[in-house]
Amino acid sequence: MSAFDRKLRRAASKKMAKEIKKNLDNILSQQIEERMKSFRKIPEECLSCSTPFDKTSREQAFSWMMQINEETDMYNLYCPDCYENTTAGGTEDE
Ligand SMILES: [Zn+2]
Repeated sequence: MSAFDRKLRRAASKKMAKEIKKNLDNILSQQIEERMKSFRKIPEECLSCSTPFDKTSREQAFSWMMQINEETDMYNLYCPDCYENTTAGGTEDE
């Protein structure tokens, strides 16, 4: 491989990397927009016991349970305790 080839190749991959990054930027910003939309719909407290939900807490985001009804666009949020109670009760309507 000549030095010229190497230079050309490096320039080509550099350009490609730039384009990929640009596309990723678009995708990421789109996702953030989508996320912000549903973010606003997230209730601020537990539906059952009114324990406040910290939307910025990753820990709570993973331990709390959200039921999403796509038909009514309703977001029901349950803290870990209440979610356990609702599932342990075995009162399923279906
Ligand atoms: Zn609760």
